[in-house]
Amino acid sequence: MIKQTGVPSKEQVKSKFPDESMLVKPKAIIECYQEIPCNPCSTSCPFNAITIGEDINQIPKIDFSICTGCGSCVYACPGLAIMIARVKDDKAYFKIPYEQLPIPEKGEIWEGVNRKGEIICDALIESILRNKHTDRTTVVSVSVPKKYLYEFITIRGKHE
Ligand code: SF4
Ligand code: SF4
Repeated sequence: MIKQTGVPSKEQVKSKFPDESMLVKPKAIIECYQEIPCNPCSTSCPFNAITIGEDINQIPKIDFSICTGCGSCVYACPGLAIMIARVKDDKAYFKIPYEQLPIPEKGEIWEGVNRKGEIICDALIESILRNKHTDRTTVVSVSVPKKYLYEFITIRGKHE
């Protein structure tokens, strides 16, 4: 489906997630669907949780049992293809890369957006994370209703 529309199907998205029971702890969701010569996700992981193999074109594979959700790969991915997901009670928590301005502020309500670019819900900005190794990528921690676990992908300001 992604080849025709540029948007992955729900099955493709779910294939990138671990079993929901594992998401009581944060895990990296790597939405890299096509073979490209790229590997910073793999080389940036301090726990060797991401494997690409000898052929740099291969799609990254993650061992969720090793991933701590530390977020290093989120900053490292040039394609903004990685986020961190966690569930607690009736909410899904995400850490997403965000490279637009303005940068949201903690406590604000932004719009939650799906992979088709449609607004699906309110998204509460939980915190803003900056990494000393990058001056471009901000990681935004955000929560949405848990029913959007496999739909939410990013945020949009209510003014846009
Ligand atoms: S979140 Fe951290 S531990 Fe998990 S794959 Fe990314 S870099 Fe590795
Ligand atoms: S760094 Fe990002 S774009 Fe490159 S292979 Fe890893 S997930 Fe895909």
